[in-house]
Amino acid sequence: MGEPILRLLDVSRAFGDFLAVDGVSLDIRSGSITGLIGPNGAGKSTLFNVVAGDLMPSAGRVVFDGKDISSLAPERRFAAGLGRTFQIPRPFKRMSVLENVMLAPLDQSGEGLLAPVFGRARIRQEESTIRKRALEVLDFVTLRPLADQPAGKISGGQMKLLELARVLMGDPKLILLDEPAAGVNPALTEVLIGKIEELNRSGKTFLIIEHDMDFVMRHCDPVIALAEGRVVFEGSAEEAQSNPVLLEAYLGA
Ligand code: ADP
Ligand code: MG
Repeated sequence: MGEPILRLLDVSRAFGDFLAVDGVSLDIRSGSITGLIGPNGAGKSTLFNVVAGDLMPSAGRVVFDGKDISSLAPERRFAAGLGRTFQIPRPFKRMSVLENVMLAPLDQSGEGLLAPVFGRARIRQEESTIRKRALEVLDFVTLRPLADQPAGKISGGQMKLLELARVLMGDPKLILLDEPAAGVNPALTEVLIGKIEELNRSGKTFLIIEHDMDFVMRHCDPVIALAEGRVVFEGSAEEAQSNPVLLEAYLGA
């Protein structure tokens, strides 16, 4: 475990008068699979949005890989090695699984902006490189047999794997997964976990929002808990299970 790959410094995000994220400071250790837990409405997804650039912070700083990325656009963060999935997958349903994966670098790293510079021949060459890479990534997440299916036709669990595939097109250092196991059948959850652990062994860091405490206990260390926009706990998954502050946050007592 090395230096923190991600640091949040007193990060807040308001919606009107409401602080969904309220002065969060935390470090994510490079090489970890860190769990982010907390009751519904705690601000977990909002925090992901602020880290990934889909929402700007109202205050505070986000430092990734030693650089302040607080005001970078999401596609710049993706290009810098920060990938995220959404709680509700949003594939282009009529496009094929393969096309959805091929789009990831195009729409997320500003490729479109470069098109006039490179010209058509270069674009075609780029496209075949991207296709090759997309097929490799689909192979890795076990979706290659579904490459030509419309993305709207695959199961919820397969959509989560598709999300992971899109993220992997960016060769990320840090991967944020928003409830990867929610609504996914046990067999596919095992596939997903195997892929997460394999990627982690090859050096990728994960920050995972997950409600399933069994998942968190078995795969996440450390665990950070949010409640009402604030960090209320940091420690091992085992400690989390018996922590009184955390029980209170969940029970709303
Ligand atoms: P979690 O992912 O922990 O369940 P969220 O981050 O989705 O929580 O939401 C935290 C709080 O912020 C909730 O009260 C939610 O209603 C509110 N919220 C989230 N997004 C918005 C938004 N775009 N506009 C207004 N309120 C929002
Ligand atoms: Mg959420």
